Amino acid sequence: MIVSAPQDFSAVSSSFREMAKGISKFSGEVFPHDRALYRRLVHDGQKPRALMISCADSRVIPEMITQSQPGELFVCRNAGNIVPPFAQMNGGVSSAIEYAVVALGVRDIVVCGHSDCGAMGALLKPQSLEAMPNVAAWLRHSHAAEQVVAKTCPAGASDADRHRALALENVVVQINHLRTHPSVAAALAAGTLTLHGWMFELEHGQVLAYDGELGHFVPMPDDDAPPVAAVSPRDGSAKHALPTAAE
Ligand SMILES: [Zn+2]
Repeated sequence: MIVSAPQDFSAVSSSFREMAKGISKFSGEVFPHDRALYRRLVHDGQKPRALMISCADSRVIPEMITQSQPGELFVCRNAGNIVPPFAQMNGGVSSAIEYAVVALGVRDIVVCGHSDCGAMGALLKPQSLEAMPNVAAWLRHSHAAEQVVAKTCPAGASDADRHRALALENVVVQINHLRTHPSVAAALAAGTLTLHGWMFELEHGQVLAYDGELGHFVPMPDDDAPPVAAVSPRDGSAKHALPTAAE
């Protein structure tokens, strides 16, 4: 016999009640305004313009940062905007990547880090992870970034500088992990996919973009030519590396 403590279903927090009110407002006020959009999305299905892998941090909202509408962004969020390297073991991030590239045919993948990231802060203070073994294990996918910062950050750098450097380096490391996924590698080689690395600065409302040619982050320009992290794993020469039919 299973005995459990009586539950008080009236003890829903006031902040959660606000969420429920939000649903009511969406259904009653927002949805009617966008009814045609949702009907079209149901009829035509989704054709998102990009996959965005960002942190689960509640302050980082990909759709808000990019001003995207429903159906425009395929989003995968987790602690630290991490992309585990491809492995035989199945995983949620790997599945989202494969589905976005193969089934949805997205032509752009964005890895978006952010300032004041708790996951990056925890990496710098491992003792804070003692009670969170799963988080600690997950953040191992960022150890390469941590090692790069430990080796390259000046000795006199402040904790804030190290935190920022780690968040930036982590984006680059996760982009490199992306390349290990077969669907990504194939699309890059075919020239049908571009990788982007972004850093959302909460305090300024600005986005920095990783320029793969320059090897560092630059402010996102206002024009329609944002810097890209990677176009092809072989500098666009993948097709030339293959033998031609005549050879
Ligand atoms: Zn974060």
